[in-house]
Amino acid sequence: MITKKITCICCPLGCSVNVIINGDNYQVIGEQCKRGKDYAIQEVKDPRRVLTTTVKINFGIQKMLPVKSKNEVPKNLLNECVKILSKVVVEAPIRCGDVVYKNIHDTRIDIIATRDMERV
Ligand code: SF4
Repeated sequence: MITKKITCICCPLGCSVNVIINGDNYQVIGEQCKRGKDYAIQEVKDPRRVLTTTVKINFGIQKMLPVKSKNEVPKNLLNECVKILSKVVVEAPIRCGDVVYKNIHDTRIDIIATRDMERV
């Protein structure tokens, strides 16, 4: 039996939650809602985060384009994904929501632009 202490980041209350792991059973203590319970179990089983970063853009009104993952990426792959994206160069114009990188790190998760970028 293992106990993991987690701070729930689903809302500003930031509840301190303990997850008691006993084989395939997860008992959550300290959460104040179902959302927190689901988050805590997900966090110990398969922690994920939305990836936000920038990629280089040619012929844009800015030199960098802000991007994010369309879905949450496994936390242990975030650094590798950022490394991949550091080598990506796109070309303006770009529309918010355009896919700038497909299936990052074989996760089936696409990286999308989070703003429009006009061409100079
Ligand atoms: S457990 Fe519920 S109330 Fe507490 S921080 Fe998480 S979402 Fe907010």
